[in-house]
Amino acid sequence: MTAAKLFGISRHRLTTDGAGVTTLVAFSGCPLRCKYCINKGSWDTAKGRDYTPETLFEEVKIDQLYFLATHGGVTFGGGEPLLQVGFIKEFRELCGSQWQLLAETSLNVPFETVQAADAVLDGYIVDIKDMSPEIYQAYTGKDIVLVLNNLEWLLKQGNPDRIMVRVPHIPGFNTDEDVKRSKEQLAMMGVKNIDEFQYIIR
Ligand code: SF4
Repeated sequence: MTAAKLFGISRHRLTTDGAGVTTLVAFSGCPLRCKYCINKGSWDTAKGRDYTPETLFEEVKIDQLYFLATHGGVTFGGGEPLLQVGFIKEFRELCGSQWQLLAETSLNVPFETVQAADAVLDGYIVDIKDMSPEIYQAYTGKDIVLVLNNLEWLLKQGNPDRIMVRVPHIPGFNTDEDVKRSKEQLAMMGVKNIDEFQYIIR
């Protein structure tokens, strides 16, 4: 069975990562290096507790009744959860089709990974940062091309309501005008749910 390192499991989250009661499962490992990352502990793939899909399922199934009653389930975050697509697929086999499985993702992963994940996930919270390639590169240290291609492909699969794109105001990196432009571009691509918010830098 596939194993992965997790650096956090947070139960009983209400409407923060999906419609119902959810448990957030945070994987170690991330391809990005965001300047204001609040989960830098997730960057080291050697850190965290070892889990298999089975040990995770045994631990989180305690909330099964809540999940079923509220149309909730598990939100995979990180780090970058889609890097663990094999783990997520095996987890889906264990939990069955009634749990909502979401990924909170940057989508900055290979296309084949998104394709494989989409066969078992119900929805996405996409952390887009900024749609400008220059701002994205400056803030994350990575190219935005994979993100845009993957988002376009996901939207083409239909049911845009399953995708929420988060657009942050990032102090020192983008302006209100940049955020407005990002939102307009996303809307033109067919994104229906956009969550605009402010990064609070402490
Ligand atoms: S995508 Fe998330 S976990 Fe990864 S570096 Fe950026 S903020 Fe941190």
